[in-house]
Amino acid sequence: MSTYDIAIIGGGPGGYVAAIRAASYGKRVALIEAKDLGGTCLNRGCIPSKTLLRHSEVIETIEKAKAWGIETGEVQFSLEKMLKRKDQVIERLRNGISYLLKKDKIDVLQGYGTVTERGTILVKDKEYGKKIQAEHIILATGSEPVVPGIPGLDTATYYTSDTIFHIEELPRSLVIVGGGIIGVEFACIFSSLNVPVTIIEMGNRIVPSEDPDASKQLAKSLKKRGVTILTNTKVTKVLKNEKGEELVEIEKENGETSQLETGALLLSVGRKPNTTAFSSLHLKMDGPFVLVDEYMRTSMPSVYAVGDVVGGWQLAHVASAEGVVAAANAAGDETKLDTRAVPRCVYTSPEIASVGLTEEEAKKKGYRFKVQKVDLAGNGKALTLDEKEGFVKLIADTKYGEILGVTMVGPHVTEMITESSAFIHLEGTVDELASMIHPHPTVSENIYEAAAAWLGKGIHS
Ligand code: FAD
Repeated sequence: MSTYDIAIIGGGPGGYVAAIRAASYGKRVALIEAKDLGGTCLNRGCIPSKTLLRHSEVIETIEKAKAWGIETGEVQFSLEKMLKRKDQVIERLRNGISYLLKKDKIDVLQGYGTVTERGTILVKDKEYGKKIQAEHIILATGSEPVVPGIPGLDTATYYTSDTIFHIEELPRSLVIVGGGIIGVEFACIFSSLNVPVTIIEMGNRIVPSEDPDASKQLAKSLKKRGVTILTNTKVTKVLKNEKGEELVEIEKENGETSQLETGALLLSVGRKPNTTAFSSLHLKMDGPFVLVDEYMRTSMPSVYAVGDVVGGWQLAHVASAEGVVAAANAAGDETKLDTRAVPRCVYTSPEIASVGLTEEEAKKKGYRFKVQKVDLAGNGKALTLDEKEGFVKLIADTKYGEILGVTMVGPHVTEMITESSAFIHLEGTVDELASMIHPHPTVSENIYEAAAAWLGKGIHS
C-alpha cells in the first residue's frame, strides 16, 4: 500500500491549492480526484460562467454602440462556438493545474476516494481499486446543486449549474428558480442571447446576501434588459403542457397562484456539501457541513476540511485560502484563517462587489458607524463607458474612522474591490483612504469620493 504524509480528497480550488502548498513543505502528497482537476469552479462554475458573461458583455456593447454612432449590422452569434471557446478556456487552465501538480511531484490519483478507516483511503476508478494510507487527510470534496423537493420535479426536465453549460440550443424562454448569485449571472447570460428570462425568488429581493441597495440596483438593470423578476414567489409544482414543455406553477405571498410556460427550467437554489465519502469518520457537523476550527481542523485529529464542504462563503478564493491553511497545519506549521476581508463578487451587468460588513452586520455586531453612498452618475470614466448605473457605499466606524465594509455596484467593481479589501485587511481608516491619490479618470475615483464625503470633505459629492 502506498503511504503519504498528506492525502487530499478533491481537486477543486480547495484541494489542488492545498496539495501544492503541502508539497512546498517537502511532504509526500496524494491528490484524489473523481472527475476533473479544477473542480466545480473551473469545470462547472466560476470560469465557464465568466467566459459566457464576457460574451454577454460584448453583445451588449455592440447593441449599445448603435446609440454612439457605431453600426455593425445585425448581431449574430453561434452558441456552439461560444461553448467551444468556454471549453478551450477550461482546458487550458486544467492543463495548467496538471502541470503544476506534476512539477511539484504530487501523485494525482484519478478515482473516487472513500475514507474506509482512520488514515486509509480506497480510491476506486472504473478499472481498479487501490488503497492508500496517509498520516493526514484534507477533505476538499466540494458541493453539488440542491434539487428542491418540488412536486412534479422528479419527472420534469430541468437544468442545474452542472448541466446548463452543455445546453445544445437556446430555449425559447428560461425560468430560473432562485435569484441568488448563480441565478442572476445566468439571467444575464441568457437575456443577452435574446432568451426571455424570468427569475422566481422566494425572498423579498434578488441577491439577498448582498446590500439591499445593490439588490435594488441590479433588479432595476435586469428589468431594463427585459428580465422578469418575481420576488416573494415560490414554485409549488412543475407540470407539462400539451407540447411537452415545462409548466411552472407559482404562488405569490398573498396566496395567488398562476402558471408559467417555459422552454427550459434552471434550478439555482443553493448547493449541498459532498460528505458521503467520509461518513465512516462520523465527524462533528455544523448542520449539513463539516465543522472545522480556524485551523481548518475537523473533530478528528489529523483530518482537515476546506472549501464548500465546510460551508460559509462557498467561494473559490475562500476554498483556496482554507486549503493553504489546512496544508500548512497538516505539514506541522501553525496558521489560522483570517476572514476579516473576504471579497464577494457578482459578475452581472452592472457588477456587484463587496467586502467586510454590510450595514445590517455592522449593526448586529454593535458598531457605531456612519455610511456614505456616492452614486456613479457623476463619475467621468463611468460616463465615458456609458455605464453610469451604480454606486460606492462605504461603512466606517465613527470612533477611529476604521473602514468596516464597502459595497460597490458598477463597471469593473469586481477588479476594484481589492483596494477596499487591502484597507480592511490592514485596518485602514477613512482618513488614510481619502489621503490617497486615485488616478483620473477611473471608476475607482468614487472610492476616494466616498471616503472624502464620509469626512465631510467631498469635492464632487
Ligand atoms: P469543488 O470545486 O466542488 O471541488 C471538489 C472536487 O472534489 C470536485 O472536482 C469533485 O469531483 C471532487 N470530489 C468530490 N468527492 C470526491 C471523492 N470522494 N473522491 C474524489 N474526488 C471527489 N466562486 C467564486 O469564488 N467566484 C465565482 O465567480 C463563482 N462562480 C460560480 C458559478 C457557478 C455556476 C457555480 C456553481 C459556482 C461558482 N462559484 C464561484 C463557487 C465555487 O465554484 C466553489 O465555491 C468552489 O468550486 C469550491 O471549491 P472546493 O474545492 O471546495 O470544491
